[in-house]
Amino acid sequence: MKVKQSIPKELRFTVAQFYKKFPDDDACLEYLKEKRYPGGITHCEKCQHERKHHRVSGRPAYSCDHCGKMISPMAGTIFEHSSTPLQTWFYAMYLMGSTRCGISAKQIQRETGVTYKTAWRMFRQIRSLLSEGDMQLEGPTVEIDETYVGGTRKYAKGRPMRGDKVKIPVIGIVQRNGGKVYAQVVPGITADELTKVVKERVTPGSTVYTDEYPSYDRIGTLTDSKGKPLAYRHRRIRHKDGVYVKGDIHTNTVEGFWALVKNGIRGVYHQVSPEYLQSYLNEYAFRYNRRHEGNQQFNAILERVCERAS
Ligand SMILES: [Zn+2]
Repeated sequence: MKVKQSIPKELRFTVAQFYKKFPDDDACLEYLKEKRYPGGITHCEKCQHERKHHRVSGRPAYSCDHCGKMISPMAGTIFEHSSTPLQTWFYAMYLMGSTRCGISAKQIQRETGVTYKTAWRMFRQIRSLLSEGDMQLEGPTVEIDETYVGGTRKYAKGRPMRGDKVKIPVIGIVQRNGGKVYAQVVPGITADELTKVVKERVTPGSTVYTDEYPSYDRIGTLTDSKGKPLAYRHRRIRHKDGVYVKGDIHTNTVEGFWALVKNGIRGVYHQVSPEYLQSYLNEYAFRYNRRHEGNQQFNAILERVCERAS
């Protein structure tokens, strides 16, 4: 695993540091316990009381100091029903948080000795935690663009046409100036679909940059459910005329994100089926939104595991 050396030193988390922090499964379990039950203190169902818990030797569990009822920090997490060692899971998350372009199941298979199927399942489960839920892009300036992922094309340029293999339509919104990205698979690039996503994700009053595609026509006149104007200032660039940048009117930021996703899918995953595309988009967006954290993004992934534990 090559971690890009351009990461500033203070944001670097090397493989050696990883193994120092997580030398074995016990260290990983202890880490989870501290994240979920700091100091080992949590509610005991039997006592119906907050209790301190201690490690049960020989089992991945902790036990109530008072009544002995056991709990597991893995309960409700993606690790719960897995027979894969916890350290391997942690390492897979470390790899996922250490790359820009994506990480293949093949690599984790090679490095840890789990089967390809296991590696693939682990990544799928980790990815399932990475959605940005109800994230709002708080302007003041966003770019919106649509693209199509997957399949093969009759012509290399332009929007898809008859004869093209399944291309999956995706909408992306990026905050300008180092902000966040949101990307979503949609049934089609229609004005209705775009309107829905924009209303949900873009703060009223933002300036919105798009290209000239007609489905964007309504953006400047959108209102909320009570008829109040959302007051988006809509600026468009005419790609059709060969114009890609006019002053600050362009969609280069969001197109940069598409390039990252498409190169990654082509180079690492080779292809992605429609049912999994959203989870891949989530993975790329998760990393993009934390790109200033170097490869300590691993911590953010671990936190997700705990947050989303049921
Ligand atoms: Zn108890």
